[in-house]
Amino acid sequence: MLRKQSYCELSRWIDEECSSGRLMGIKASRSGSPHSTSDDDFRRLESDYKRLHDDAQRLITERVQLESDLSKLKKKTVRLDDEVRLLKSPPMIIGHIQDVLDKERAIVRSSNGTIFQVSLNPRLDSALVKAGTRVALNQDSLAVIEILTDAWDPLVSGAEIMTKPDVTYEDIGGLDEQMEMLRESIELPLHKPELFAKVGIKPPKGVLMVGPPGCGKTMLAKAVAQQTDATFIRMVGSELAQKYIGEGGRMVRELFALAKEKSPSIIFLDEIDAIGAKRLDGATSGDREVQRTLMQLLAELDGFDSLEDVKIIAATNRPDILDEALMRPGRFDRIIDIPVPDEDGRKSILTLCLKPMAKTSFRLGKIVERTEKFSGAELKAVCVEAGMIAIRQSRGRINQKDMFLAIDRVVDKRHNDSGREGLRVLYG
Ligand code: ATP
Repeated sequence: MLRKQSYCELSRWIDEECSSGRLMGIKASRSGSPHSTSDDDFRRLESDYKRLHDDAQRLITERVQLESDLSKLKKKTVRLDDEVRLLKSPPMIIGHIQDVLDKERAIVRSSNGTIFQVSLNPRLDSALVKAGTRVALNQDSLAVIEILTDAWDPLVSGAEIMTKPDVTYEDIGGLDEQMEMLRESIELPLHKPELFAKVGIKPPKGVLMVGPPGCGKTMLAKAVAQQTDATFIRMVGSELAQKYIGEGGRMVRELFALAKEKSPSIIFLDEIDAIGAKRLDGATSGDREVQRTLMQLLAELDGFDSLEDVKIIAATNRPDILDEALMRPGRFDRIIDIPVPDEDGRKSILTLCLKPMAKTSFRLGKIVERTEKFSGAELKAVCVEAGMIAIRQSRGRINQKDMFLAIDRVVDKRHNDSGREGLRVLYG
């Protein structure tokens, strides 16, 4: 309840409100007796006061809300202005600092290889401005605008195999000796470097696997990766053979830098012949770029210590065209020959391939006899083809006849595939 004094104040306020026309109804009821304190008037006034009070409260809340909306919109405008400015700004050139002359000038090499003397943005952190840093350059003045963090080439970073390959040594048939050599050269130095230190020899930096296609080189490398906890980085030689000058060399550099950063690691360089072919005198500009990439690879192979936890496995089916520099000891310390499987090899590969297959009992010896000079991949293809024949004839098991038919089909396919004949001549 309002006290009498406050009621008088309220009454005065109501008079003012009435004269301004805001409380017309009350004015009418009060006109007869200005100081009437009848209960009706009092209740009406109380309810009007309450309503006005609520209105005032609501308006205050609305005002606060609007003020906050306004500030949000102002921030959004600033952000959008920034975005528009960014979209309108010209692209920047990427380069590397070669030398810092003083606080205001530096020598940079732009991405196309040209070297310039340019000015430095005074707001840049001088501790970060040093030779080798990647920077963004203004397109007109080539002034250094921004310091960029070093990034791996997506091809190089994408070469890292995150999940372990599912190939194990047990999946590989007929390559026991080669497997042992590979384990000694790659696994042992990573797992037990102290053995090498004790004997006083440096562990091999890497191995080169040579042999015809489809005989298990990739499988062996994958099995090593499966066995160790090392980061496995797989790169195919042709990916390193780049079009632009310096690109291939840079990728090789980044590949080894990534391997060192992620060590212990294994680099698997498949088809190394794509960049490791003999250097010839009358080469085209494309060949020269490939040669530069090879030289970078040789420099990297020489540059790291064999005790570092980085191992290299390279593979090729064209050892005849490889540059001698690659083959000399100190680069690839071991050259492992992965031949076309012999009789025992074929038997164990066929046993492995046929193991999960449903089959009637047949003499494996006959199949082994008929598959002379077949590679591991071809033996696998024979088993798959035999399975397809059985399915086509609505049978749930393969039999010896299916295998013979499959061998004939693989032989036919081989004869149609003229590209492989050259290799067959090469390996006998
Ligand atoms: P390329 O030189 O063409 O890269 P590669 O020597 O690396 O060939 P792999 O990729 O290792 O050959 O083998 C191809 C397929 O052949 C394998 O997936 C596997 O099915 C089969 N294979 C080859 N050799 C063997 C082997 N020794 N034991 C079991 N399977 C094999």
